[in-house]
Amino acid sequence: MLIILSSPSGAGKSTLSRMLREWDSDIGFSISYTTRNPRIGEIDGQDYHFVSKDEFQKDIAAGKMLEHAEVFGNLYGSPLAPIKRAINLGRDILFDIDWKGAQQIQNSPLGPNSLSIFILPPSIAELQKRLEKRGLDKIDVIRERMKRSWDEISHWNEYAYVLINKNLEQTAEQLQNIITAERSKRSRQPELYSHVMQLQDEFEQSP
Ligand code: ADP
Ligand code: 5GP
Repeated sequence: MLIILSSPSGAGKSTLSRMLREWDSDIGFSISYTTRNPRIGEIDGQDYHFVSKDEFQKDIAAGKMLEHAEVFGNLYGSPLAPIKRAINLGRDILFDIDWKGAQQIQNSPLGPNSLSIFILPPSIAELQKRLEKRGLDKIDVIRERMKRSWDEISHWNEYAYVLINKNLEQTAEQLQNIITAERSKRSRQPELYSHVMQLQDEFEQSP
C-alpha cells in the first residue's frame, strides 16, 4: 500500500508518521525531495533530500518524481525509484505529502494501491499552538502556514479516512487499526488462495 498522510502544517502528521514506523518497522517512508532549507535537527537523506531548485527541476524533467508540488513557495516531491523498490519487496510505504501530491498519486496508475488518510486538528487555536510549540519555524513562517491551513483543510473530503488528532496516542492507535484493517482486505491478500486450497486438501483427506 501507498499510505498517504496529509494535514495542515502542525496538525501532527510527522509525529504520527514516526509513531507508525515505530509500530511497524516494515513500513517504509518516502523521503521527499525539497528545495526548502533544513530545519535545526533535520538530517539530509533521512527527513528530506535537500536539493537546489535546479537539481529538482532536472529530476522532474527526467521523470524521476511520482508527484511534485509547490508548497509554501518551495518545491517538494516524492522520488519514484524507492517507491518501485518498496513495491517490488511487497513493503508498504508512507507518504507525508500535501493534497496536491495526494491527488497526483490517487490519479496515477498506483492510485488503486493507495490508502489516503487526512489528519484534522481539534481546533484552529490548537493548530496555531502546535506550530508555535514545535518551535522550529520563525514567526513569519508560522503565520504563512496558518494562512494556508484552510487551503489544505478544504481538501479533507478527498481522503478515504479522516481523523481528528486530539489525543496523540489515540490517533496513533486509530491509524494502526486502519492499516491493519486495510491489510486484511481480501484483495490485498493474494496468498489466501493457496491457503484455502491447502485447507480444502486437508478437509477432503480428513476422516
Ligand atoms: P506536521 O507534521 O503536521 O506539520 P508535527 O507532527 O510536526 O506536525 O506536529 C506539530 C507539533 O504538535 C509538534 O510539536 C508535535 O509534538 C505536536 N503534536 C502533534 N500531535 C499532537 C497532539 N495530539 N496533541 C498535542 N500536541 C501534538
Ligand atoms: P514541511 O516544510 O513542514 O516539512 O512540509 C510542508 C508541507 O509539504 C507539508 O504539508 C508536507 O506534507 C508537504 N510535503 C512534504 N513532502 C512532500 C512531497 O514530497 N510532495 C508533496 N506534494 N508535498 C510534500
